[in-house]
This record gives sequence, structure tokens and C-alpha cells, in this order.
Amino acid sequence: MPKKPGHTPRRVLLTFLMNAALIVGIAAIGCARAKPMPTLQSNTETPDAPPAHPIEGDDEMSAADSNAEPIRTEYNELTPAEARVIVDKGTERAFVGEYTDLKDPGTFVCRRCNTPLYHSADKFESHCGWPSFDDEIPGAVRRIRDIDGSRTEIVCKNCDGHLGHVFLGERMTNKNTRHCVNSLSMKFYAEGKTLPAVIKPKPE
Ligand SMILES: [Zn+2]
Repeated sequence: MPKKPGHTPRRVLLTFLMNAALIVGIAAIGCARAKPMPTLQSNTETPDAPPAHPIEGDDEMSAADSNAEPIRTEYNELTPAEARVIVDKGTERAFVGEYTDLKDPGTFVCRRCNTPLYHSADKFESHCGWPSFDDEIPGAVRRIRDIDGSRTEIVCKNCDGHLGHVFLGERMTNKNTRHCVNSLSMKFYAEGKTLPAVIKPKPE
């Protein structure tokens, strides 16, 4: 039986229209909600702000780096034999030092702090068994008279590392001076080689 066959299409149409209205409404709401999007875009304008933080972060990194720098001002690590001479003021055995007979042109630096101490041009053959120089690089060496006055100790002026002793009046060279230096207190850099940076003592 065609019982109100027309009703169904109408209801369908009505339902369709209502749904359509709903969809339009939702779409409208969606658009309304979409409008704030520019504020999201305005957030994308703030990328200027976020970079400021990474830059601060970089500052922190560089601060950390600068904090790490003092580690590099630690003196060169010494072997027990070097420490016995440089720190404990010991003396290496005669005629065994690696620089006793070295005649190559170059510079001798402090093994502990890299301060240039002696030029090979001032090295001479003393036959005493230790490297001998009749002059130091100006300002590099400090003299300390022994308590009994018999000898004068020489130390690196920068780090106070023990070098050896200085003797005057032996008439071995025209300068009449002999710096008797332990090979273990020094490190040799041949002429033309770049000298290492001097390591300053840490502030007390
Ligand atoms: Zn030194």
C-alpha cells in the first residue's frame, strides 16, 4: 500500500536540510574558531622571541666553555722523575740528561709551564754532565741564594719550578756564568717549531 508515499521523501528532504543546516552551522563555528588562527600565526611571529632563548643558551655554553678554560691553565703533567726535580728540587744524574750534549739550534722552555728559558745559542760544553748555558732569556729565571750561601738555585720565574743552579766566576765563557740545568726541567723546541703557549700560574 502506498501509504503516504510522499511523506518519506519530505522527511528525507527535511532531514537533509536540517543536516545541511547543521553542517553549515558547524562549518560556521569552524570558521569562527578558525579566525583565532591568526593568533596562532601571531605566535609564529614570536619566533623572534624563542631565538632569544637559544642565544642565552649559547651564552651559557660559552660560559661553560670559559669555565672549562682554567683546566687548560693547569701546568703540564709531570712524570714522577720530572716532579722529583721540578717540584722537589732534585737533581738528575750527571751525563744522562737528554739535552746534555744537544747542540741543535732552538729554544728550551720550562717543562712545567712552557716559559722560554734558554736559547741554544747560549748553551756551551761545560763537561759537567748537565746542560749548561751562560745566559738566560731575559726575565725568565729567578735566582734564590741557598741558606748557607754556597750555591744559588735557579727557578722558572713564571711557575717557580726548579731548574738547577747558577755558578759565577768559573771563566768557562766570556760571560763567566754557568746555568747548570736539569734536562728534566726543560723541553726543547727545534728552531722553526712553534713554541707552546705559556701556562700562567693559578691565582692563589
Ligand atoms: Zn715554569
